[in-house]
Amino acid sequence: MELPCLKDFTLPQLEDWVERIGERRFRARQLFRHIYVRGVTSWSECSDLSKMFRTQLEYGSRLNAMELRESRRSRDGTVKYLFALHDGHCIETVMIPDAPRTTLCLSSQVGCAMGCRFCVTGSLGLKRNLSTAEIVDQVCQVQKHLPTRQKITNLVFMGMGEPLANYEPVVEAISILTDPSGLDFSHRRITLSTVGLVPQLRRLGRESPINLAISLHAPENGLRSRLMPVNKTHSLENLMAACRDYPLAPRKRITFEYILMGGLNDQPLHARQLVSLLAGIRAKVNLIPLNPHEGCPFQQPKEEAVLRFQELVQKAGYTAIIRQSRGADIGAACGQLAAEYQESNPNEGETSPGGKVDGG
Ligand code: SAH
Ligand code: SF4
Repeated sequence: MELPCLKDFTLPQLEDWVERIGERRFRARQLFRHIYVRGVTSWSECSDLSKMFRTQLEYGSRLNAMELRESRRSRDGTVKYLFALHDGHCIETVMIPDAPRTTLCLSSQVGCAMGCRFCVTGSLGLKRNLSTAEIVDQVCQVQKHLPTRQKITNLVFMGMGEPLANYEPVVEAISILTDPSGLDFSHRRITLSTVGLVPQLRRLGRESPINLAISLHAPENGLRSRLMPVNKTHSLENLMAACRDYPLAPRKRITFEYILMGGLNDQPLHARQLVSLLAGIRAKVNLIPLNPHEGCPFQQPKEEAVLRFQELVQKAGYTAIIRQSRGADIGAACGQLAAEYQESNPNEGETSPGGKVDGG
């Protein structure tokens, strides 16, 4: 049987685990510090733990959930990391430097079951959910790879997968990442992006006070259902009702992401429909010109259409920012993630840039 990975445990779960192997509960907090604050790679570095406990840890648990295989740097400074999971699957994590911030874009699943028609990850289908440890370790391993003075400041669940379709591991990972004994991320610096699985969205509002981004992309049910099959189960009416009920912290807004596709959803009519959908919601809008990719049946929007759309949304009183995706030259831009690693690849270790990464 596989050894437990310690990054799978929230602090209370780790307390139970150390107790089960015969240690005192407070040891868990010490382990948290070693794992997340010091980033140890071997228990021999932890002289405050007894020899016997260290041996137990050494032979009875794992520290890392996966292996960093490659990293690729984009011309704009974005870096895409490829991780190999224990069962041969791969995931991608993207680091976006934007001084003074360093944002990490996390994956929550291998592939995605939602099948949005504009998204490369969606075209893979769902291979499997990530474990808590596989989510947490993206942060730990990328942080270790960065220069010591560069700290990851913000986390966004906008990589591969639909985070609310892997609810428990995602929420457990958030609880580990925000634990004051460990990495101590503030909830305000974590954003989860979702297509809008309504029951899980309502549950998230009750359980985890992070920022919310909704992938909207169309302002009426007919078009949205064509682009995003999930809309047939969770209609715009139900989604917007859940957004209206979402317990936002003071001064916080929900971000609505809207990919602009030429001639399809980028007309003034759509901007007006979008504005009326947002009525009564503290909202801001991110407008993302489509990233085209092979096999994508949609067009990039014309620049005039993007600007006109932005103006109409702004005139209605909402902040509307045009987001140019970064990292497109290394397949790291929004909706481009599609990790694929051939086991036959002889290039072990990291290559930067130019390794074997298929970024869709
Ligand atoms: N599954 C979640 C989290 C992934 S976020 C979600 O969809 O919200 C990935 C973001 O990239 C989403 O806003 C998605 O809509 C966007 N995206 C997907 N394909 C894209 C494309 N071809 N061009 C631009 N953005 C895209
Ligand atoms: Fe999945 Fe998000 Fe891509 Fe849709 S846009 S297929 S939900 S990753």
